[in-house]
Amino acid sequence: MNIILLGPPGAGKGTQSARLVEQYGMRQLSTGDMLRAAVKAQTPVGIKAKAVMDAGELVSDEIVSDLIDVELATMEADTGAIFDGYPRTAAQAQILDGLLEKHGRSLDYVIELEVDEDALVERITGRFSCANCGTLYHDTANPPAKPGVCDVCGSTEFKRRPDDNEETVRTRMQEYRAKTAPILPGYEARGIVRRVDGMASIGEVAAAIDAILK
Ligand code: AMP
Repeated sequence: MNIILLGPPGAGKGTQSARLVEQYGMRQLSTGDMLRAAVKAQTPVGIKAKAVMDAGELVSDEIVSDLIDVELATMEADTGAIFDGYPRTAAQAQILDGLLEKHGRSLDYVIELEVDEDALVERITGRFSCANCGTLYHDTANPPAKPGVCDVCGSTEFKRRPDDNEETVRTRMQEYRAKTAPILPGYEARGIVRRVDGMASIGEVAAAIDAILK
């Protein structure tokens, strides 16, 4: 099974991907996570991408597509892929078709998480993650059971993304509307788009996605 999770920043793609990985042993291919790792490691790609990411703009199609190509090459044929935050432009959608063919895969579903953009700013500016294991949290919607302690690994160190501030979020949403949303009609023509109400609770969104994948 190979699926794309599509939706603006804060729609819940990362949260749902993490759950699908846990539950079905699929692999999450998040270009955002890969780029953040490259920035942290100060690789040439990371150094180039940092300013663009901080501004909420899009990194080049070649850079992100190369990251995806490398990941797909390391995967067992029977491990499902969840594309999270990729493709984000028409060019990337086209490149992805070629990459899937190259790696002997085909796309099963494009799951669009539909959300109310005004609510997203609050969602995004409240989110943080465990600095040790990466578990995702939110100040009000999904805080750790014991304040200041990660539910999963017990770490007391947390971090916030530098691009999760209101100004950058507005730019990221603008990028989504202008460049990413227009790739949907092409997938719709192939009959593989499924829509899920991304404003529902994490559990309800999970159940809706499971119903599609069954
Ligand atoms: P994300 O974690 O998916 O929200 O991505 C964070 C940032 O990384 C984005 O705002 C972009 O600057 C960059 N990025 C991630 N994925 C892509 C992509 N597929 N194409 C272009 N830029 C990307």
